[in-house]
Amino acid sequence: MWPHWIDNARVEPRPGGIISPVYDPATEEVLTEVRLDDTDNLERALASAQGAWAGWRATPILERTRIFFRYRQLLEEHRQELAESVSRENGKTLQDAFQEVGRGMEVVELAAGAPTLLKGEILTDVAHGVDTTLVRVPLGVAAGITPYNFPAMIPLWMMPLAIVAGNTFVLKPSERTPMTAMRLVELLSEAGLPDGVLNLVNGGKQIVDGLLSDGRVRAVSFVGSQPVAHYVYQTAARAGKRVQALGGAKNYHVVMPDADLDSTVEALVGSAYGAAGQRCLAASVVIAVDPIGDVLVERLKERGDELVLGRGLESSTEMGPLIRAEHRQRVLDFVAAGQAAGAELVRDGRQRLPEQGFFVGPTLFDRVQPDMTIAREEIFGPVLSVMRAPSLEAAVELANRSRFGNTASLYTRSGGAARYFRDHIEAGMLGINIGVAAPVAWFPFSGWKESFYGDLHATGRDGLEFYTEKRVITERWT
Ligand code: NAD
Repeated sequence: MWPHWIDNARVEPRPGGIISPVYDPATEEVLTEVRLDDTDNLERALASAQGAWAGWRATPILERTRIFFRYRQLLEEHRQELAESVSRENGKTLQDAFQEVGRGMEVVELAAGAPTLLKGEILTDVAHGVDTTLVRVPLGVAAGITPYNFPAMIPLWMMPLAIVAGNTFVLKPSERTPMTAMRLVELLSEAGLPDGVLNLVNGGKQIVDGLLSDGRVRAVSFVGSQPVAHYVYQTAARAGKRVQALGGAKNYHVVMPDADLDSTVEALVGSAYGAAGQRCLAASVVIAVDPIGDVLVERLKERGDELVLGRGLESSTEMGPLIRAEHRQRVLDFVAAGQAAGAELVRDGRQRLPEQGFFVGPTLFDRVQPDMTIAREEIFGPVLSVMRAPSLEAAVELANRSRFGNTASLYTRSGGAARYFRDHIEAGMLGINIGVAAPVAWFPFSGWKESFYGDLHATGRDGLEFYTEKRVITERWT
């Protein structure tokens, strides 16, 4: 059984309860098992985090920060091992996993700048003999609940910023990819964290609900699907907690007739089919502005035909599997729904698949209409839908019908088109000639609409603000 991490040690789950297997999704081999409902150990972890807080918040900020310099070094030394772990339990290619670990390390670099970022403000002589000072103080125990699609990067969006700001932290990783998270917390402990500052409890909904209802938890960071993000936001807010809940997505990419075709096709293929479409920034719908549609569809199909499917750990693999058999079935149901609704299936990803593993190949639909399910719902698989529009304005109007607003991209050589897009598209992270417009860690991961519930986003200044409260002191000294 896969362990928890409490007081700087691996802890075996209590026997019994609900058990869930962890697969290698490329081979269907069971790698380990997770107990979903070990609430006894959740209680232990929360008590430990609460107990560690007074000592941790009193630890000088420079000492806290130096732990993250050491952590950065340890992550660098273990980067290959971490990437292999991500690839094994998630299925993405080793190269993709290596980049993921690097994106997570950026947040550690951001955390290492905490002494500058957490500095307060002072204004003297606001009245005769009166000065006003603003300081940022930690909240207490913060909790993080993470999805399966970035087993390394998303825990790293949360833990370093919460902890460097003087909070203690309880992480609940995805029960489908729990293994990498354990190595991340072990390495942070090795970098010098005192007992209880960071605990990890594995599990499912039962553990999430335990975190959301516990009075000791002051702040909740969540990343996952939209319905669960909404549920976590409402439940935690009702309990008086601070919440940032990042949800699902349906990302629109608009291709102008003047776009550079070669680089646009590469960007779209990487975005739509990379990680088998299991990215919250994946291109899901392409709107081809007339007359580029026909040639674009032809080129996308050609590239889709070339992609090599396989186990992420093999160097020849360009696209891995989906995470689970049930998820694969869900994606296949979307493909069937697209066909039934009359979309033109240009490339059928259900053919010529590896014998084992939860694979779906690159799938391409053309002539998709805005009211079809495949144009509206998050599929989270390698299914790309092409729509046509007569103008940029019409394309933006189509994209803005989405209830999601995570990211959107435009491919063009025109500054005017880029400017129009930037000003009118309703999404929080925009790419111009970029397939995956993931902001570097010094900026917020700023989804809009139903892709995000809350006020302060993950990472960037927002990330640190989320884990601190402002205290304003007005003083008169005569
Ligand atoms: P998920 O919602 O199934 O699970 C996320 C977490 O919530 C897991 O830790 C899981 O144990 C927990 N959980 C699941 N069901 C729950 C329930 N009913 N009650 C309480 N907790 C529950 O998401 P996933 O499938 O692991 O991840 C994929 C989703 O995450 C996609 O929708 C993707 O778009 C989204 N995502 C969003 C972002 C973003 O930045 N907006 C980033 C990555 C992934």
